[in-house]
Amino acid sequence: MKRIACIGCTGNIGKQTAQIVREHPERFAFSALACEKNAALLEAMQNEFHPEVCYLESVGSEAERSRLFDGCDIALIAASGFAGLKYTLQAIRAGKTVALANKESLVCGGEIVTAEAKKHGVEIVPVDSEHSAIFQSLSFRRGTCFSELVLTASGGPFFGKSREELNRVTAADALKHPTWDMGAKVTIDSATLLNKGYEVIEAKWLYGADFSQIKAVVHPESIVHSLVYFKDGAALAQLAYPDMRLPIQLALTYPERLPCLKPLDLAAVGALHFYPLPEENFPCFSLALQAGRAGGILPAALNGAAEVAVKAFLLGRIGFPAIAQIIEGVLSDTVNGKADGFEALAEADGRARAAAEGKIHV
Ligand code: MG
Repeated sequence: MKRIACIGCTGNIGKQTAQIVREHPERFAFSALACEKNAALLEAMQNEFHPEVCYLESVGSEAERSRLFDGCDIALIAASGFAGLKYTLQAIRAGKTVALANKESLVCGGEIVTAEAKKHGVEIVPVDSEHSAIFQSLSFRRGTCFSELVLTASGGPFFGKSREELNRVTAADALKHPTWDMGAKVTIDSATLLNKGYEVIEAKWLYGADFSQIKAVVHPESIVHSLVYFKDGAALAQLAYPDMRLPIQLALTYPERLPCLKPLDLAAVGALHFYPLPEENFPCFSLALQAGRAGGILPAALNGAAEVAVKAFLLGRIGFPAIAQIIEGVLSDTVNGKADGFEALAEADGRARAAAEGKIHV
């Protein structure tokens, strides 16, 4: 029996994790459930799963929060945004294996998170489908020598659109993701390709790769979830239908596999396509890489600005191209500094949010 502390239990990943626990009650139980503010759903999940700890961030006490990881074997961090980082660090410091679905933990705090994980001998298992695919293609052996990692990107709903057309797209258009069912923030980040830039940074920290070794390619069918290249020219990939239940479940059970999705019917899929990433029309991708390469507090500033800009876009306050413009403006106004602790990142995050808010003129 594996006991899971699920942070962000009412979000998309949390709900799919609940489905996995429901389907395999002999294998999994929740020791803790936590979310930000969805009290009604948290209560329903509490009544169904009877965790020892139930925590609603908006009203919970510090004492309650400190007990979140006491009874777990694995901490599934599925909170959205920068808010997830403090839980990732807390789980690591409690010595618990982390199944990481919160990419901001590595985007903003990669340096601290990796150092703390090493210090506490804690393993970070990827939940993000691309990084799970890489983990699988490396046969779960992180030390395996590879030459390149290639992340696949669906391209989002706006792949193939001209700059002109992108000026007019709305939040409703962006939320119609062609292949994946995800939360609103990450769906918009997929449309801007910021998400793919984040995943490059994630891959750097998870697999110790240099930025020059990480590439992205558009693959609209979302069947090949990522590839690992080796120096002899071989490439290994993981293929499956696009469904997050597989990488979530595998993060909880690996190296063991349990039944999950129906097997891939290649003849029914027919053709798989691959295209270069259209960076010129999606500047968020390059902005993320630029911040990732610079390191320090810049990735946290990038993310703080992005969280504010995406929220403004979802509310119809700004247009699609303004998301990148706001991020770019905040980055160029930010003086980089050392990411020498959570406080430095939280401060950079707060400043970037205020600066981004100042650039929204509606
Ligand atoms: Mg992904």
